[in-house]
Amino acid sequence: MNMMVFECGDHMIVVDCGVMFPDAELLGVDIVIPDITYLRENQHRLRAILLTHGHEDHIGALAYVLDEVDAPVYGTPFTLALARAKLAEHGLEESVDLREMHPSAPFEIGPFRVEMIHLTHSIIEAGALALSTPLGVIIHTGDFKFDPTPTDRRVSDLHTLADYGRRGVLALFSDSTNVERPGMTPSERGVSERFAEIMAEAKHRVMISCFSTSMHRLQIITDLAQEYNRRLCFVGRAMFRNSEIAMQMGRLRVPEGLLIQPQDIRKLPPEQVVVVLAGSQGEPMSALSRVAVNNHRWVTIEPQDEVVISARVIPGNEKSIFRMIDHLYRRGARVHYHDGSQPPVHVSGHGSSEELRLMLNLVRPKYFVPIHGEYRQLYQHMELAKELAAVSGEVFLLESGDVLEFDERGARRSGRVAVGRVCIDEGTLDEVGDVILKERRHISEDGIVIPIIAINAHTGRLETQPEIVSRGFVPLEEAQDLVESARAVVLKTIEVSNVEEKGDWGVIKEKIRTALRKHFDQETGKRPMILPVILEV
Ligand SMILES: [Zn+2]
Ligand SMILES: [Zn+2]
Repeated sequence: MNMMVFECGDHMIVVDCGVMFPDAELLGVDIVIPDITYLRENQHRLRAILLTHGHEDHIGALAYVLDEVDAPVYGTPFTLALARAKLAEHGLEESVDLREMHPSAPFEIGPFRVEMIHLTHSIIEAGALALSTPLGVIIHTGDFKFDPTPTDRRVSDLHTLADYGRRGVLALFSDSTNVERPGMTPSERGVSERFAEIMAEAKHRVMISCFSTSMHRLQIITDLAQEYNRRLCFVGRAMFRNSEIAMQMGRLRVPEGLLIQPQDIRKLPPEQVVVVLAGSQGEPMSALSRVAVNNHRWVTIEPQDEVVISARVIPGNEKSIFRMIDHLYRRGARVHYHDGSQPPVHVSGHGSSEELRLMLNLVRPKYFVPIHGEYRQLYQHMELAKELAAVSGEVFLLESGDVLEFDERGARRSGRVAVGRVCIDEGTLDEVGDVILKERRHISEDGIVIPIIAINAHTGRLETQPEIVSRGFVPLEEAQDLVESARAVVLKTIEVSNVEEKGDWGVIKEKIRTALRKHFDQETGKRPMILPVILEV
């Protein structure tokens, strides 16, 4: 949920506008966005939203925020293309003023002179922002690592960073994600060696899962597919869309004739195919999860397939990822994941401690503020800065909502503004103050429905008819038809699920919830909270 406000006089600039994906505790919540009360109250001063790069935690909340406040959005061409695709999902692509910005091409917004400084990251076209103000220069790094060999050959612009450092920088705000790691983060090319080994040795299909915005990785896979005489297929909506965008922009270079459509995968000998698909975090409805339980239209796992999960295991997702890996093994695939083995199948997009030191030593700010990380990482980044002679003034450890004020006398903390998280139900775009509020409102308006399903743990069969219990929805004793039809929906959902899905209660509950939600919406126009309960008997 990255979002930072910079103000000077009567002018306000927002840097980034991100989402967070909820953990399993936030039942029924699709995404989490920042509370923008402060922006709403100060709309008349808001001049621009600047995007450092196109990752979801930096652009994902744009549609929701621009629904409430109005401002031109600046980003590099690739970042804006991703943003435009997101806005289009909400029918907002026409109404939003998107403006391209390019590295080393400064422009003015009120009293701010804005210059983007190109930096490398796991996504292409990322960068830091230098905001020159009457009081001095502020540098916000965005997310970065210093990759000496990015696939697009656009290396980090260290010269400009050093130039600013030489002329004097008032404050540096820098990425803290990997402060706990010693040394330097490997280049994005670090995955090539292992990918090449796997492709060279594979006797069957190779499937690689990574984030659909990782253009460096998609380029590496494309080049290797060509080298090892395999045709290439991008599977899944976001993967297809983002690779298409990048190809159109010339940012992903795919030789003529290499690409095939998902429906053609089965027509080719398996040793001539590489499939690239999303779902590296085991998200239940993602392409790889569906492939793992044999529920994908075009892709099935066959013995000897090689599956590569080219991503880190994001804490909180371990269970779903390892369950997915189990399913893949059960179907006879060999799975390569980020388990510390060398050479790696994944490298981080964030700089390690040596890179963070280098950033500080190049910029040599008066004040330093660690950002982008958990509190412990911000703390360690502060400690790391204190060991260097780079920061001449103070280091501020700020949390969301803290205000830091600069004037001729220096910098100091200056109160707080309202912040927090807002949970969004993607179906309705409804926004609620917090989870409890959401649940209360949800239940108070449309009630709650609890389908109770008794499954025999050994046979996977239903022991009895599903029970449907409800409160505050419609009086079910008077609506026998609705109970019957809801029961039929539950039975049908279970019937069309395969054995593995039935054994995976997270998946089966989600499928029942989705099916019933649609059914009740059609029948009654209401959206009750649905809490499937599965009894193992
Ligand atoms: Zn990022
Ligand atoms: Zn980020």
